[in-house]
Formats: sequence, C-alpha cells, structure tokens
Amino acid sequence: MNTDPDCLFCKIVAGEIPSEQVYSDEQLIVFKDINPKAAVHLLIVPREHIISLKELEKKHDSLIAHIMHLLPKIAQEQGLENGFRTVINTGTGGGQLIFHLHFHLLGGEGLSGAGFSRAV
Ligand code: 5GP
Ligand code: ZN
Repeated sequence: MNTDPDCLFCKIVAGEIPSEQVYSDEQLIVFKDINPKAAVHLLIVPREHIISLKELEKKHDSLIAHIMHLLPKIAQEQGLENGFRTVINTGTGGGQLIFHLHFHLLGGEGLSGAGFSRAV
C-alpha cells in the first residue's frame, strides 16, 4: 500500500501523530478535524496515500463504495438524524490543504457558518 513519510495524514494513519479517532478499519480511519467548522466535523481518511480525487484509479472503486456506505452510518452514530454534509476539496483550486484524499463529514450546530457554507 502506498504511503508518504512526509504526509501529515499518513503520519496520523500510522499513529505517529495523535488524533481523536472515532472509527477505524483495515481500509480507513475516521478522526475529528482539529479545527472544526461545525459541532460534528470528522475526516474520513483512507489508509493508502492517495493524493486527491484526481489520482483515483479503478482499483479504488471498492474503497470509495465503502466510504459512501460508511458516511451515513457514522453520521447516525454522531447523532445527526436530520442529515449531514460531505465535502471533498480537490487541488489548490478546490481549497485542498492536505494532499492525502479525505472526506469531510459535517453536521449539527454551526453547519451554515463560515468555511463550508452552501455555495449555491
Ligand atoms: P482540506 O482543505 O485539505 O480539505 O482540509 C484539511 C483539514 O484537515 C482541515 O479542515 C484541517 O482543519 C484539518 N487538519 C489539518 N491538520 C490537522 C491535524 O494535524 N489533525 C487533525 N485532526 N486535523 C487536521
Ligand atoms: Zn498520505
């Protein structure tokens, strides 16, 4: 599995940098964003170092399907019965700061505030 020793999220996946994990399995980990934009702000991070959506390959299909099915389950566990928002920033033009693919899961109080407000 591809990893990058200089990547912050690879270091978090490896446990070299601490994080507040809420879920993990053989394919990914889920932890709290260090700078939350809503009451619930989690990051779903594949264990493999994939830079962004642009670098996804056919071999990642099962991983992506797994994440899509997991998102509502994690949201429910977090008490987000009324719904949640999923954000994927891709590239500098998309506001991506950490170049290791991740899915933001946001919900609860503060969701409509600055940072991830609805664009349309
Ligand atoms: P991006 O803009 O790349 O989609 O978002 C990166 C996210 O990672 C930001 O929301 C930021 O707050 C979060 N983040 C950056 N560094 C750390 C860290 O060391 N720990 C945790 N838990 N989150 C981080
Ligand atoms: Zn990485």
